[in-house]
Amino acid sequence: MAVGVDTFHAGLVAPRPLRRKLAQDLDCEACVIGGGFAGLWTARALARRGFEVVVIEAGRVGSGASGRNAGFVGPGYAEPLDGLIARVGLDHARELWALSRDGVELVRAAVHGGRIAGVEPVGGHLVVRRKDEERATHREADRLRRQFDTPVDVWRTREVRGVLHSPHYFQALHFPEAFHINPLALAFGLAEELERAGVRIFEDTEALRADLNGVRKHVATGGGRIRAKHVVLASGVPSGRVWPAVTRGVIPVSTFIGVTEPLGEKLYAAVQFPGAVSDMRRAGHYFRRIAGARLLFGSGITTRRSVPGGLTGTLAREIGDTFPDLVGAKVEHAWAGTMAYAVHRMPQIGQIKPGVWLAAAFGGHGLNTSAIAGELIASAITESDERWKLFAPFGVVRIGGPLGRIGVQASYWHMRFKDRMEERRARNASAHRTPMRGEPAT
Ligand SMILES: Cc1cc2nc3c(=O)[nH]c(=O)nc-3n(C[C@H](O)[C@H](O)[C@H](O)COP(=O)(O)OP(=O)(O)OC[C@H]3O[C@@H](n4cnc5c(N)ncnc54)[C@H](O)[C@@H]3O)c2cc1C
Repeated sequence: MAVGVDTFHAGLVAPRPLRRKLAQDLDCEACVIGGGFAGLWTARALARRGFEVVVIEAGRVGSGASGRNAGFVGPGYAEPLDGLIARVGLDHARELWALSRDGVELVRAAVHGGRIAGVEPVGGHLVVRRKDEERATHREADRLRRQFDTPVDVWRTREVRGVLHSPHYFQALHFPEAFHINPLALAFGLAEELERAGVRIFEDTEALRADLNGVRKHVATGGGRIRAKHVVLASGVPSGRVWPAVTRGVIPVSTFIGVTEPLGEKLYAAVQFPGAVSDMRRAGHYFRRIAGARLLFGSGITTRRSVPGGLTGTLAREIGDTFPDLVGAKVEHAWAGTMAYAVHRMPQIGQIKPGVWLAAAFGGHGLNTSAIAGELIASAITESDERWKLFAPFGVVRIGGPLGRIGVQASYWHMRFKDRMEERRARNASAHRTPMRGEPAT
Protein backbone atom coordinates (compact mmCIF):
# COMPACT_ATOMS: atom_id res chain seq x y z
CA MET A 1 0.00 0.00 0.00
CA ALA A 2 1.53 3.34 -1.06
CA VAL A 3 1.89 5.78 1.79
CA GLY A 4 2.52 8.96 -0.19
CA VAL A 5 0.25 11.26 -2.17
CA ASP A 6 1.86 11.77 -5.57
CA THR A 7 -0.36 14.48 -7.02
CA PHE A 8 0.06 18.13 -7.96
CA HIS A 9 -2.16 18.96 -4.95
CA ALA A 10 0.54 17.56 -2.66
CA GLY A 11 3.03 20.19 -3.83
CA LEU A 12 0.60 22.93 -2.77
CA VAL A 13 0.28 21.88 0.87
CA ALA A 14 2.89 21.83 3.62
CA PRO A 15 4.45 18.36 3.90
CA ARG A 16 3.36 16.37 6.97
CA PRO A 17 5.40 13.60 8.62
CA LEU A 18 3.82 10.16 8.49
CA ARG A 19 1.68 9.52 11.57
CA ARG A 20 2.62 6.65 13.86
CA LYS A 21 1.52 3.13 13.05
CA LEU A 22 -0.62 1.22 15.54
CA ALA A 23 1.78 -0.79 17.70
CA GLN A 24 -0.36 -2.01 20.61
CA ASP A 25 -3.87 -3.21 21.42
CA LEU A 26 -6.39 -0.57 22.35
CA ASP A 27 -10.05 -0.02 23.20
CA CYS A 28 -12.33 2.75 22.00
CA GLU A 29 -15.99 3.48 21.42
CA ALA A 30 -15.75 3.76 17.63
CA CYS A 31 -13.13 2.50 15.20
CA VAL A 32 -13.22 4.11 11.75
CA ILE A 33 -11.43 2.20 9.02
CA GLY A 34 -10.18 4.48 6.26
CA GLY A 35 -8.69 7.97 6.35
CA GLY A 36 -10.44 9.36 3.26
CA PHE A 37 -13.27 11.84 3.43
CA ALA A 38 -15.85 9.23 4.47
CA GLY A 39 -13.74 8.20 7.45
CA LEU A 40 -12.66 11.72 8.38
CA TRP A 41 -16.16 13.18 8.26
CA THR A 42 -17.57 10.28 10.28
CA ALA A 43 -14.81 10.56 12.89
CA ARG A 44 -15.38 14.31 13.09
CA ALA A 45 -19.14 13.98 13.52
CA LEU A 46 -18.68 11.33 16.24
CA ALA A 47 -15.96 13.28 18.06
CA ARG A 48 -18.17 16.37 18.06
CA ARG A 49 -20.80 14.29 19.84
CA GLY A 50 -18.30 13.33 22.55
CA PHE A 51 -17.31 9.91 21.23
CA GLU A 52 -13.86 8.39 21.70
CA VAL A 53 -12.74 7.59 18.14
CA VAL A 54 -9.76 5.85 16.55
CA VAL A 55 -9.09 6.09 12.80
CA ILE A 56 -6.86 3.57 11.06
CA GLU A 57 -5.60 4.21 7.55
CA ALA A 58 -3.71 1.68 5.44
CA GLY A 59 -1.71 4.39 3.65
CA ARG A 60 -1.76 8.08 4.54
CA VAL A 61 -4.73 10.31 5.21
CA GLY A 62 -5.95 11.41 1.76
CA SER A 63 -3.87 8.87 -0.16
CA GLY A 64 -7.01 7.32 -1.69
CA ALA A 65 -9.50 9.09 -3.95
CA SER A 66 -10.01 11.85 -1.37
CA GLY A 67 -6.61 13.47 -1.88
CA ARG A 68 -6.41 12.82 -5.63
CA ASN A 69 -9.66 14.25 -6.96
CA ALA A 70 -10.64 17.41 -8.82
CA GLY A 71 -12.05 19.11 -5.72
CA PHE A 72 -15.52 20.03 -7.07
CA VAL A 73 -18.07 20.44 -4.29
CA GLY A 74 -21.66 20.62 -5.51
CA PRO A 75 -25.10 19.13 -4.91
CA GLY A 76 -26.17 15.71 -6.19
CA TYR A 77 -24.86 12.17 -6.48
CA ALA A 78 -23.02 10.09 -9.06
CA GLU A 79 -26.45 8.84 -10.16
CA PRO A 80 -28.21 11.57 -12.15
CA LEU A 81 -31.59 12.92 -11.02
CA ASP A 82 -33.65 11.02 -13.62
CA GLY A 83 -32.28 7.71 -12.40
CA LEU A 84 -32.84 8.68 -8.79
CA ILE A 85 -36.48 9.64 -9.38
CA ALA A 86 -37.10 6.50 -11.43
CA ARG A 87 -35.72 4.39 -8.63
CA VAL A 88 -37.31 5.90 -5.51
CA GLY A 89 -39.97 8.37 -6.69
CA LEU A 90 -40.04 12.15 -6.58
CA ASP A 91 -40.60 12.74 -2.85
CA HIS A 92 -37.86 10.39 -1.76
CA ALA A 93 -35.52 11.80 -4.43
CA ARG A 94 -36.21 15.31 -3.09
CA GLU A 95 -35.18 14.24 0.41
CA LEU A 96 -31.99 12.65 -0.88
CA TRP A 97 -31.20 15.71 -2.95
CA ALA A 98 -31.74 17.99 0.05
CA LEU A 99 -29.23 15.89 1.98
CA SER A 100 -26.75 16.27 -0.86
CA ARG A 101 -27.10 20.06 -0.52
CA ASP A 102 -26.58 19.76 3.25
CA GLY A 103 -23.33 17.97 2.40
CA VAL A 104 -22.17 20.97 0.36
CA GLU A 105 -22.92 23.26 3.30
CA LEU A 106 -21.04 20.99 5.72
CA VAL A 107 -17.95 21.23 3.52
CA ARG A 108 -18.36 24.98 3.12
CA ALA A 109 -18.68 25.47 6.90
CA ALA A 110 -15.58 23.35 7.57
CA VAL A 111 -13.58 25.18 4.91
CA HIS A 112 -14.57 28.65 6.07
CA GLY A 113 -14.91 27.98 9.80
CA GLY A 114 -11.74 25.93 10.11
CA ARG A 115 -9.49 28.36 8.22
CA ILE A 116 -7.65 25.37 6.79
CA ALA A 117 -4.46 26.37 4.97
CA GLY A 118 -4.28 25.74 1.24
CA VAL A 119 -7.92 24.79 0.59
CA GLU A 120 -8.50 27.93 -1.51
CA PRO A 121 -12.21 27.71 -2.31
CA VAL A 122 -13.36 29.30 -5.59
CA GLY A 123 -17.09 29.65 -6.26
CA GLY A 124 -19.33 28.43 -9.09
CA HIS A 125 -19.73 25.29 -11.20
CA LEU A 126 -20.70 25.29 -14.88
CA VAL A 127 -22.12 22.05 -16.24
CA VAL A 128 -21.89 22.43 -20.00
CA ARG A 129 -23.65 20.64 -22.83
CA ARG A 130 -21.76 19.34 -25.82
CA LYS A 131 -25.01 19.30 -27.81
CA ASP A 132 -27.29 22.20 -28.67
CA GLU A 133 -30.22 21.50 -26.33
CA GLU A 134 -31.53 24.82 -25.11
CA ARG A 135 -35.02 23.59 -24.22
CA ALA A 136 -33.74 20.62 -22.28
CA THR A 137 -31.40 22.94 -20.38
CA HIS A 138 -34.29 25.21 -19.35
CA ARG A 139 -36.42 22.20 -18.38
CA GLU A 140 -33.65 20.87 -16.18
CA ALA A 141 -33.13 24.27 -14.54
CA ASP A 142 -36.88 24.63 -13.87
CA ARG A 143 -37.04 21.22 -12.29
CA LEU A 144 -34.02 21.93 -10.07
CA ARG A 145 -35.47 25.25 -8.95
CA ARG A 146 -39.09 24.21 -8.45
CA GLN A 147 -38.88 20.63 -7.29
CA PHE A 148 -35.43 20.54 -5.72
CA ASP A 149 -35.17 24.05 -4.34
CA THR A 150 -31.72 24.53 -5.88
CA PRO A 151 -30.41 27.87 -7.17
CA VAL A 152 -29.27 27.44 -10.76
CA ASP A 153 -28.94 29.72 -13.81
CA VAL A 154 -29.14 28.84 -17.49
CA TRP A 155 -26.25 30.18 -19.56
CA ARG A 156 -26.89 30.33 -23.27
CA THR A 157 -24.33 29.17 -25.80
CA ARG A 158 -23.12 32.70 -26.41
CA GLU A 159 -22.46 33.30 -22.71
CA VAL A 160 -20.77 29.93 -22.32
CA ARG A 161 -18.48 30.49 -25.29
CA GLY A 162 -17.77 33.98 -23.95
CA VAL A 163 -16.00 32.41 -20.97
CA LEU A 164 -14.93 29.03 -22.41
CA HIS A 165 -13.32 29.40 -25.79
CA SER A 166 -14.35 26.03 -27.19
CA PRO A 167 -16.44 25.17 -30.26
CA HIS A 168 -17.68 22.06 -28.44
CA TYR A 169 -19.79 23.80 -25.84
CA PHE A 170 -23.41 24.89 -26.01
CA GLN A 171 -25.69 25.77 -23.09
CA ALA A 172 -24.77 25.31 -19.44
CA LEU A 173 -26.29 25.14 -16.00
CA HIS A 174 -24.49 27.36 -13.52
CA PHE A 175 -24.62 26.33 -9.86
CA PRO A 176 -23.63 29.44 -7.90
CA GLU A 177 -23.51 27.62 -4.55
CA ALA A 178 -20.97 25.04 -5.73
CA PHE A 179 -17.25 25.64 -5.40
CA HIS A 180 -13.87 23.98 -5.86
CA ILE A 181 -11.03 23.36 -3.44
CA ASN A 182 -7.69 21.65 -3.05
CA PRO A 183 -9.07 18.35 -1.65
CA LEU A 184 -5.81 17.17 -0.13
CA ALA A 185 -5.54 20.36 1.92
CA LEU A 186 -9.05 19.72 3.23
CA ALA A 187 -8.24 16.09 4.12
CA PHE A 188 -5.08 17.19 5.97
CA GLY A 189 -6.97 20.00 7.71
CA LEU A 190 -9.78 17.70 8.85
CA ALA A 191 -7.28 15.17 10.20
CA GLU A 192 -5.48 17.88 12.18
CA GLU A 193 -8.77 19.14 13.56
CA LEU A 194 -9.61 15.59 14.63
CA GLU A 195 -6.32 15.20 16.46
CA ARG A 196 -6.86 18.50 18.26
CA ALA A 197 -10.20 17.05 19.40
CA GLY A 198 -8.47 13.95 20.80
CA VAL A 199 -9.12 11.48 17.95
CA ARG A 200 -6.21 9.07 17.47
CA ILE A 201 -5.21 8.51 13.83
CA PHE A 202 -2.84 5.72 12.84
CA GLU A 203 -1.34 5.70 9.35
CA ASP A 204 0.34 2.82 7.55
CA THR A 205 -2.09 0.67 9.58
CA GLU A 206 -4.18 -1.67 7.51
CA ALA A 207 -7.16 -3.58 8.90
CA LEU A 208 -6.26 -7.17 8.06
CA ARG A 209 -8.98 -9.15 9.80
CA ALA A 210 -12.10 -8.33 11.69
CA ASP A 211 -14.55 -10.09 13.94
CA LEU A 212 -17.64 -7.92 13.79
CA ASN A 213 -20.16 -10.24 15.39
CA GLY A 214 -20.02 -9.64 19.15
CA VAL A 215 -21.07 -6.60 21.17
CA ARG A 216 -17.40 -5.63 21.21
CA LYS A 217 -15.93 -5.86 17.70
CA HIS A 218 -12.30 -6.73 17.03
CA VAL A 219 -10.21 -5.29 14.21
CA ALA A 220 -6.75 -6.76 13.72
CA THR A 221 -3.85 -4.85 12.14
CA GLY A 222 -0.20 -5.89 11.73
CA GLY A 223 0.83 -4.05 14.92
CA GLY A 224 -2.14 -4.35 17.28
CA ARG A 225 -5.80 -5.06 17.74
CA ILE A 226 -8.62 -2.58 18.30
CA ARG A 227 -11.71 -3.42 20.33
CA ALA A 228 -14.65 -1.11 19.71
CA LYS A 229 -18.39 -0.97 20.24
CA HIS A 230 -18.92 0.53 16.79
CA VAL A 231 -16.95 -0.03 13.61
CA VAL A 232 -17.33 2.16 10.54
CA LEU A 233 -16.12 0.73 7.24
CA ALA A 234 -15.06 3.78 5.27
CA SER A 235 -12.42 2.17 3.12
CA GLY A 236 -13.39 3.24 -0.40
CA VAL A 237 -12.09 0.31 -2.40
CA PRO A 238 -11.06 -1.85 0.58
CA SER A 239 -7.57 -3.32 0.47
CA GLY A 240 -7.15 -7.04 1.08
CA ARG A 241 -9.98 -9.40 1.83
CA VAL A 242 -11.22 -8.21 5.21
CA TRP A 243 -14.87 -7.75 4.21
CA PRO A 244 -15.48 -9.83 1.08
CA ALA A 245 -19.21 -8.97 1.02
CA VAL A 246 -18.46 -5.25 1.07
CA THR A 247 -15.61 -5.55 -1.41
CA ARG A 248 -17.84 -7.45 -3.83
CA GLY A 249 -20.42 -4.66 -3.54
CA VAL A 250 -18.18 -2.05 -5.14
CA ILE A 251 -16.42 -1.82 -8.42
CA PRO A 252 -13.13 0.10 -8.57
CA VAL A 253 -13.31 2.70 -11.34
CA SER A 254 -10.31 4.86 -12.19
CA THR A 255 -10.21 8.30 -13.74
CA PHE A 256 -7.28 10.51 -14.71
CA ILE A 257 -6.19 14.07 -14.02
CA GLY A 258 -3.47 16.15 -15.66
CA VAL A 259 -2.06 19.56 -14.78
CA THR A 260 -0.53 21.67 -17.53
CA GLU A 261 2.62 23.70 -17.53
CA PRO A 262 2.07 27.40 -16.63
CA LEU A 263 0.15 28.84 -19.61
CA GLY A 264 0.06 32.54 -18.77
CA GLU A 265 -2.42 34.76 -20.62
CA LYS A 266 -3.27 31.99 -23.10
CA LEU A 267 -5.10 30.17 -20.31
CA TYR A 268 -7.05 33.22 -19.14
CA ALA A 269 -8.17 33.80 -22.74
CA ALA A 270 -9.33 30.20 -23.27
CA VAL A 271 -10.82 29.60 -19.82
CA GLN A 272 -12.14 32.84 -18.41
CA PHE A 273 -14.49 31.18 -15.93
CA PRO A 274 -12.63 30.78 -12.60
CA GLY A 275 -14.94 28.10 -11.13
CA ALA A 276 -15.34 24.39 -11.78
CA VAL A 277 -16.44 23.14 -15.22
CA SER A 278 -17.64 19.72 -16.26
CA ASP A 279 -19.46 18.50 -19.34
CA MET A 280 -22.69 16.55 -19.23
CA ARG A 281 -21.42 13.33 -20.69
CA ARG A 282 -21.44 10.33 -18.38
CA ALA A 283 -17.68 10.20 -18.26
CA GLY A 284 -16.81 13.53 -19.75
CA HIS A 285 -14.18 16.16 -19.08
CA TYR A 286 -13.88 18.19 -15.91
CA PHE A 287 -11.47 21.06 -15.41
CA ARG A 288 -10.58 24.23 -13.57
CA ARG A 289 -7.84 26.79 -13.49
CA ILE A 290 -5.37 26.40 -10.66
CA ALA A 291 -2.43 28.21 -9.14
CA GLY A 292 0.23 29.58 -11.47
CA ALA A 293 -1.97 29.84 -14.59
CA ARG A 294 -2.21 26.09 -15.01
CA LEU A 295 -5.19 24.03 -16.11
CA LEU A 296 -6.25 20.98 -14.11
CA PHE A 297 -8.04 18.68 -16.56
CA GLY A 298 -9.69 15.34 -15.83
CA SER A 299 -11.00 12.74 -18.22
CA GLY A 300 -12.06 9.16 -18.75
CA ILE A 301 -13.11 6.26 -16.64
CA THR A 302 -11.83 2.74 -16.80
CA THR A 303 -12.00 -0.39 -14.71
CA ARG A 304 -8.24 -0.86 -15.23
CA ARG A 305 -6.34 0.29 -12.16
CA SER A 306 -2.94 0.89 -13.76
CA VAL A 307 -1.93 4.27 -15.18
CA PRO A 308 -1.97 3.96 -18.99
CA GLY A 309 1.25 4.69 -20.86
CA GLY A 310 1.36 8.09 -22.54
CA LEU A 311 -1.23 9.60 -20.16
CA THR A 312 0.29 13.11 -20.25
CA GLY A 313 0.20 13.09 -24.08
CA THR A 314 -3.39 11.81 -24.18
CA LEU A 315 -4.59 14.50 -21.78
CA ALA A 316 -2.66 17.21 -23.66
CA ARG A 317 -4.39 16.12 -26.90
CA GLU A 318 -7.81 16.21 -25.22
CA ILE A 319 -7.10 19.72 -23.91
CA GLY A 320 -6.04 20.85 -27.41
CA ASP A 321 -9.15 19.26 -28.97
CA THR A 322 -11.34 21.07 -26.45
CA PHE A 323 -9.60 24.46 -26.57
CA PRO A 324 -7.96 25.28 -29.92
CA ASP A 325 -6.03 28.11 -28.16
CA LEU A 326 -4.33 25.51 -25.99
CA VAL A 327 -3.06 23.18 -28.73
CA GLY A 328 0.50 22.27 -27.83
CA ALA A 329 0.10 22.98 -24.09
CA LYS A 330 2.16 20.42 -22.19
CA VAL A 331 0.74 18.35 -19.35
CA GLU A 332 3.48 18.28 -16.72
CA HIS A 333 1.79 16.19 -14.01
CA ALA A 334 -0.71 13.37 -14.40
CA TRP A 335 -2.14 10.82 -12.03
CA ALA A 336 -4.91 8.28 -11.68
CA GLY A 337 -7.37 7.93 -8.85
CA THR A 338 -9.65 5.03 -8.06
CA MET A 339 -13.20 5.50 -6.86
CA ALA A 340 -15.62 2.93 -5.50
CA TYR A 341 -18.89 2.65 -7.43
CA ALA A 342 -21.92 0.56 -6.56
CA VAL A 343 -23.95 -0.87 -9.38
CA HIS A 344 -26.74 1.68 -8.64
CA ARG A 345 -24.18 4.57 -8.58
CA MET A 346 -25.50 5.73 -5.19
CA PRO A 347 -23.56 5.75 -1.92
CA GLN A 348 -23.92 2.85 0.46
CA ILE A 349 -24.66 4.47 3.81
CA GLY A 350 -26.09 2.60 6.77
CA GLN A 351 -25.89 -0.14 9.34
CA ILE A 352 -25.03 -3.56 7.94
CA LYS A 353 -25.24 -5.39 11.29
CA PRO A 354 -25.62 -4.12 14.86
CA GLY A 355 -22.75 -1.72 15.53
CA VAL A 356 -21.25 -2.07 12.04
CA TRP A 357 -21.67 0.88 9.70
CA LEU A 358 -20.84 1.31 6.06
CA ALA A 359 -19.92 4.59 4.34
CA ALA A 360 -18.86 3.65 0.84
CA ALA A 361 -19.38 3.85 -2.93
CA PHE A 362 -19.46 7.61 -3.38
CA GLY A 363 -18.33 7.26 -6.98
CA GLY A 364 -17.29 10.47 -8.71
CA HIS A 365 -19.43 12.61 -6.39
CA GLY A 366 -17.89 12.06 -2.99
CA LEU A 367 -17.04 15.45 -1.57
CA ASN A 368 -20.53 16.43 -0.48
CA THR A 369 -21.93 12.92 -0.09
CA SER A 370 -19.17 11.61 2.22
CA ALA A 371 -19.82 14.58 4.52
CA ILE A 372 -23.49 13.62 4.77
CA ALA A 373 -22.55 9.98 5.40
CA GLY A 374 -20.48 11.03 8.41
CA GLU A 375 -23.29 13.14 9.81
CA LEU A 376 -25.99 10.49 9.27
CA ILE A 377 -23.95 7.67 10.78
CA ALA A 378 -22.86 9.70 13.82
CA SER A 379 -26.39 10.93 14.51
CA ALA A 380 -27.72 7.38 14.07
CA ILE A 381 -25.22 6.03 16.61
CA THR A 382 -25.65 8.80 19.16
CA GLU A 383 -29.21 10.03 18.64
CA SER A 384 -30.95 7.09 16.94
CA ASP A 385 -31.52 9.31 13.91
CA GLU A 386 -32.98 7.12 11.16
CA ARG A 387 -32.37 9.35 8.16
CA TRP A 388 -29.70 6.95 6.91
CA LYS A 389 -32.61 4.69 5.96
CA LEU A 390 -33.25 7.02 3.03
CA PHE A 391 -30.29 5.18 1.49
CA ALA A 392 -31.75 1.74 2.25
CA PRO A 393 -32.89 1.17 -1.37
CA PHE A 394 -29.20 1.44 -2.33
CA GLY A 395 -27.72 -1.37 -0.34
CA VAL A 396 -24.73 -3.56 -0.99
CA VAL A 397 -25.46 -5.18 -4.34
CA ARG A 398 -22.99 -7.86 -5.31
CA ILE A 399 -21.04 -7.09 -8.47
CA GLY A 400 -20.21 -10.05 -10.66
CA GLY A 401 -16.42 -10.21 -10.21
CA PRO A 402 -14.22 -9.80 -13.30
CA LEU A 403 -17.16 -10.46 -15.64
CA GLY A 404 -19.15 -7.67 -13.97
CA ARG A 405 -16.19 -5.34 -14.50
CA ILE A 406 -15.94 -6.22 -18.16
CA GLY A 407 -19.67 -5.44 -18.45
CA VAL A 408 -19.19 -2.02 -16.83
CA GLN A 409 -16.22 -1.21 -19.10
CA ALA A 410 -18.16 -2.30 -22.20
CA SER A 411 -21.15 -0.14 -21.31
CA TYR A 412 -18.81 2.84 -20.74
CA TRP A 413 -17.27 2.37 -24.22
CA HIS A 414 -20.76 2.12 -25.66
CA MET A 415 -21.82 5.39 -23.95
CA ARG A 416 -18.70 7.16 -25.19
CA PHE A 417 -19.32 5.98 -28.72
CA LYS A 418 -22.95 7.23 -28.57
CA ASP A 419 -21.83 10.57 -27.09
CA ARG A 420 -19.28 11.04 -29.88
CA MET A 421 -21.78 10.29 -32.65
CA GLU A 422 -24.36 12.67 -31.18
CA GLU A 423 -21.79 15.41 -30.72
CA ARG A 424 -20.60 15.05 -34.29
CA ARG A 425 -24.20 15.49 -35.45
CA ALA A 426 -24.58 18.50 -33.10
CA ARG A 427 -21.39 20.13 -34.44
CA ASN A 428 -22.45 19.60 -38.06
CA ALA A 429 -25.88 21.06 -37.35
CA SER A 430 -24.33 24.06 -35.62
CA ALA A 431 -21.83 24.63 -38.48
CA HIS A 432 -24.74 24.81 -40.94
CA ARG A 433 -26.88 27.05 -38.74
CA THR A 434 -27.29 30.72 -39.69
CA PRO A 435 -26.16 32.84 -36.71
CA MET A 436 -28.95 34.79 -35.02
CA ARG A 437 -28.93 38.52 -35.52
CA GLY A 438 -26.34 40.14 -33.24
CA GLU A 439 -24.90 36.73 -32.29
CA PRO A 440 -21.12 36.62 -32.70
CA ALA A 441 -19.88 33.87 -34.99
CA THR A 442 -18.17 31.34 -32.79
C1 LIG B 1 -9.56 11.55 -10.16
C2 LIG B 1 -10.81 11.73 -9.33
C3 LIG B 1 -11.54 12.90 -9.43
C4 LIG B 1 -12.68 13.08 -8.63
N1 LIG B 1 -13.28 14.30 -8.62
C5 LIG B 1 -14.30 14.53 -7.73
C6 LIG B 1 -14.84 15.83 -7.61
O1 LIG B 1 -14.39 16.78 -8.24
N2 LIG B 1 -15.89 16.01 -6.77
C7 LIG B 1 -16.41 14.98 -6.02
O2 LIG B 1 -17.39 15.19 -5.28
N3 LIG B 1 -15.86 13.74 -6.08
C8 LIG B 1 -14.81 13.50 -6.89
N4 LIG B 1 -14.22 12.28 -6.95
C9 LIG B 1 -14.75 11.22 -6.07
C10 LIG B 1 -14.24 11.36 -4.61
O3 LIG B 1 -12.86 11.63 -4.59
C11 LIG B 1 -14.54 10.07 -3.84
O4 LIG B 1 -15.89 9.70 -4.00
C12 LIG B 1 -14.27 10.22 -2.35
O5 LIG B 1 -13.00 10.79 -2.13
C13 LIG B 1 -14.39 8.87 -1.68
O6 LIG B 1 -13.97 8.98 -0.35
P1 LIG B 1 -13.74 7.68 0.51
O7 LIG B 1 -13.31 8.12 1.86
O8 LIG B 1 -14.94 6.80 0.39
O9 LIG B 1 -12.59 6.87 -0.24
P2 LIG B 1 -11.00 7.09 -0.24
O10 LIG B 1 -10.62 8.49 -0.32
O11 LIG B 1 -10.47 6.18 -1.29
O12 LIG B 1 -10.57 6.60 1.19
C14 LIG B 1 -10.60 5.25 1.60
C15 LIG B 1 -9.37 5.03 2.45
O13 LIG B 1 -9.46 3.74 3.06
C16 LIG B 1 -8.16 3.20 3.12
N5 LIG B 1 -8.29 1.74 3.26
C17 LIG B 1 -8.72 0.84 2.32
N6 LIG B 1 -8.70 -0.40 2.84
C18 LIG B 1 -8.26 -0.28 4.12
C19 LIG B 1 -7.99 -1.22 5.17
N7 LIG B 1 -8.17 -2.55 4.99
N8 LIG B 1 -7.51 -0.75 6.36
C20 LIG B 1 -7.32 0.59 6.56
N9 LIG B 1 -7.54 1.51 5.59
C21 LIG B 1 -7.99 1.07 4.39
C22 LIG B 1 -7.51 3.63 1.81
O14 LIG B 1 -6.10 3.63 1.92
C23 LIG B 1 -8.09 5.03 1.62
O15 LIG B 1 -7.23 6.05 2.09
C24 LIG B 1 -13.12 12.04 -7.76
C25 LIG B 1 -12.40 10.85 -7.70
C26 LIG B 1 -11.25 10.69 -8.46
C27 LIG B 1 -10.47 9.42 -8.33
